[in-house]
Order: sequence, then C-alpha cells, then structure tokens
Amino acid sequence: MAFDFDLFVIGGGSGGVRAARIAASEGGARVALAEESRMGGTCVIRGCVPKKLMVFASGVPQQIADAGAYGWDVAPGTFDWPRFRGALAKELDRLEAAYRSGLVNAGVTIYDQRATIEDPHTLRLADGHRVTAKHILIATGGWPFVPDIPGRDLAVTSNEMFGLDALPARAVVVGGGFIASEFACILNGLGVSVTQLYRGGQILRGFDNEARDLVADSMAAHGVNILLNADVARLDRIAGGIKVTLTDDTAMETDLVLYATGRVPNTSGLGLDRIGLETGKAGEIPVDGFSQTAVPSVYAVGDVTNRINLTPVAIREGHAFADTVFRGVPTMADHDLVPMAVFTQPELGAVGLTEEEAVARGEPFEVYAARFRPMRSLFAGRDDRTLMKLIVDDATRVVLGCHIVGPEAGEMIQLAAVAIRMGATKEDFDRTVAVHPTAAEELVTMRKPARRGPIG
Ligand code: NDP
Repeated sequence: MAFDFDLFVIGGGSGGVRAARIAASEGGARVALAEESRMGGTCVIRGCVPKKLMVFASGVPQQIADAGAYGWDVAPGTFDWPRFRGALAKELDRLEAAYRSGLVNAGVTIYDQRATIEDPHTLRLADGHRVTAKHILIATGGWPFVPDIPGRDLAVTSNEMFGLDALPARAVVVGGGFIASEFACILNGLGVSVTQLYRGGQILRGFDNEARDLVADSMAAHGVNILLNADVARLDRIAGGIKVTLTDDTAMETDLVLYATGRVPNTSGLGLDRIGLETGKAGEIPVDGFSQTAVPSVYAVGDVTNRINLTPVAIREGHAFADTVFRGVPTMADHDLVPMAVFTQPELGAVGLTEEEAVARGEPFEVYAARFRPMRSLFAGRDDRTLMKLIVDDATRVVLGCHIVGPEAGEMIQLAAVAIRMGATKEDFDRTVAVHPTAAEELVTMRKPARRGPIG
C-alpha cells in the first residue's frame, strides 16, 4: 500500500522535531509533522527557555545589591515586567521560527493544526483531511496537572506564567518539584512576596537530602516562605485577591496562586482507543526500549511516555527512533546517569546516586562533601553556602553520584557527568589538577570522606 508519508509526527516539541528532522534529512524519509500550538513545544514556548530567561531577570537585584561591595555605586532599579515580557515574546518568536525553518529545510511537511489517530496508518487533521503514513510518532508531551479542589479555576499553571498581565505583589506557589521551586525563586527574585506550599516534609523529593535541605534553607534565607506538610483545601475569590485555605483550616491571602503539582501525558482525544492502545497508570503511552508501542506502526517519545521527563531525554529518544526506523541503526535511548539541574537560587545539579539511594543499595560507600562560602558572595557579605558532594563506591572507587548546590551548579554538573559516565574513580578526580580559584575545584580536592555507609 502506498502511504502519503513514511512518517507522521504528532507534536512539534523537542522529541518530535528531532525525530522528524533526522528521519527526513538523514533517513531520506517523506515526513509530515502536525502541531496544534506553536512550534517548539513546552521547552521552547512555555518551559525551559523562557523560564531560564526569567531566572536571569530575577537574579539581577542580587547582582545590584552585591555591586556596592565591589566598589560600584548602583542604585536599586525597578523591574518593568511588560518590557521584559515583550523581549521574551520576541525571543520566543525567533526560536519558533528557527525550529520551523529547521523542519522546512529538512523537507518536512508541516501541518499547523491538530492531528488525531484514525487507525494504525491514518491521521485525521482538524480541517477534516485524512493523511496516511507508514509510521506514526506520538510526541505530544505533557500538560500541567491541577488537583480537583474547590476554586481550582482561580489558579494558574506554568503555562500562563510567561504572559501574566502584571506581576503580583504576593504569590502562593503550590508544589515542591522542579517547577514550583524554580518559580518560587524567580518570583521572589523579582520582588514578589512568595509562599511555597508543599505537602511533604521537604521540597525536591528524589534529590539528595543534604542538597535539598541546603536549597530549601537558602531559598528561605533569601525570602521564600516555604511551608511544609501543607496542603490546599480550597481557593476562594475575595475582595483584592484570592483566599487560600489549607486542610488544617489556616488561611492566607494572595494575588496569584501558581499550581505546579506535576504534569500528565498529553493523550486526551488523540484516538488511542481507536487503535486499541491502552495507557499506563500515569496516563502514559507504554513503549519498549526502541520507543515502539504495542501497535507496531506507532511509536511514542518524550513526556507522553513518562520515562524521564526532560527535554534532552526526549531529543535522545526522538533521535534514537529515527536512527532505528529510518537509518537502519537500531538504537535505544540511554536513560542511565541522566544529569539534571534545578534552576532554583541556588541551583542544584545532580547526576547518579543520591546518598539515600547508595544506602538502599546496601554496598559500602564513601561520601565526600565540601560546604563553603563561595568567594563572590562572601566578598559581598552574603552568607550563601555551596555544597559539593561525591558518592564513591568503596570497592571499585567509582564515583556513583555527584550533587552540587550553588551558583552555576547546572554548568558544573554537565561536566562532572561526562567523567562519571566514563566510569571515573575518585582517584581519577584526585589526579585532575584543580582550576583555581573556582568553586568546581572542590570536586578534585576533597581528600577525606565525610562519612561512610552502610557500615558493616
Ligand atoms: P514534579 O513531579 O517535579 O513535582 C510535582 C510536585 O507537586 C511534587 O512536589 C508533588 O509532591 C506535588 N504534587 C503532586 N500532586 C499533588 C497534589 N495532588 N497536591 C499537592 N501537591 C501535589 O512536577 P513539576 O510540575 O514540578 O514538573 C514537571 C516535570 O517537568 C518534572 O518532573 C521535570 O521532569 C520537568 N521539569 C524539569 C525542569 C528542569 O530540568 N530544570 C524544570 C521544570 C520542569 P510529592 O513530591 O509529594 O509527590
């Protein structure tokens, strides 16, 4: 049977765009891609990229405050949100255009509309047209999840954060994960009075406990009011704001409520039922190591598969799919030792085992940890702390994990991850000459373990 295309990709985000480009330009495939919103997906349009630019914007007051210590007379300024928002919108337009031209140059046919699945080889476009393809790739990403509490419509999600009409004076951020913690810091840096509510005992669950504690303590020291073991019961509109009532009946008033309570795979109305594809517990599309679903012509990559929900992972999965299906090079995306950065203030970078995971593993290990005041902020009279931490296997000396809290932790963890992926031992780190004076040099100058575990 002759198909209209060799590949039809649903979703123009990180994973879908990479797969489409490689399949077309390097695999010689006839490729189409449908995107119902803007090209670039969550990361480019309403996630990582605008978030990072907001992180930069929110860091400026601290730099101005520090300037005096460095001999500069700088007056504290005011933040012009509409001006920044306009510049942000322009930059996103530029990036969207770059994504689009990348696809066009690779020969990909773009449909700027929603596509749903009719059968294992047929798609229906929103304008009513039907298109056939030998392979279908679902790369529809995720969507913010907001629990069903009374008044939930009064809350916004990260989707809306980049286009707010005005910055609020007060904000309540609900959640303790990546997005909640990052936005709590961004808003705080921009001068908003922030309360972060988290239902558990400490924010950033899953990261190394010592690192989480330091991030949380530092956020609090910088002005974020973190309330732990706090759950929202309801939201009510009141004169001049929103009333947030917690399950313990305490209440607070605020101007903006941001819910960042996780994201769910975006499969609603996609037509999975028409091809007999059942989703998993979290609503994800189950796939094998090659990103193939139970329907052989249908594949899925990225957040919709709920493996590791990070842009670089989706890109790897999309690329591996294209290599496998269109370049004759069977490739599985590798989900091991994925480095991560949380762009809180201070940043958190992590790769490999946490101390808690090392304990659970049951094999002897050493913890090397250095806590210090980095020279830039120390000189400015600030009390910020940096943490550098390595988890080392006792028997093999292999570095199993690295955790960094401090300025540029995201940059540092990328490089540490290369060494750790290569199987570097503690002695390899030690043999590497320090770069002085840097914070990163602590990674190669820690001589004595802070502690060992598990003992016996
Ligand atoms: P996360 O899964 O990181 O965090 C969700 C948070 O919401 C957790 O603290 C969770 O609590 C809490 N939560 C979940 N359900 C409820 C509920 N019903 N009531 C109250 N709290 C609840 O999701 P995010 O939304 O922060 O981010 C989504 C994904 O996006 C992340 O997993 C990450 O992969 C990606 N991302 C990555 C970034 C980066 O790389 N820097 C930045 C932003 C996002 P609990 O811990 O108790 O489950």
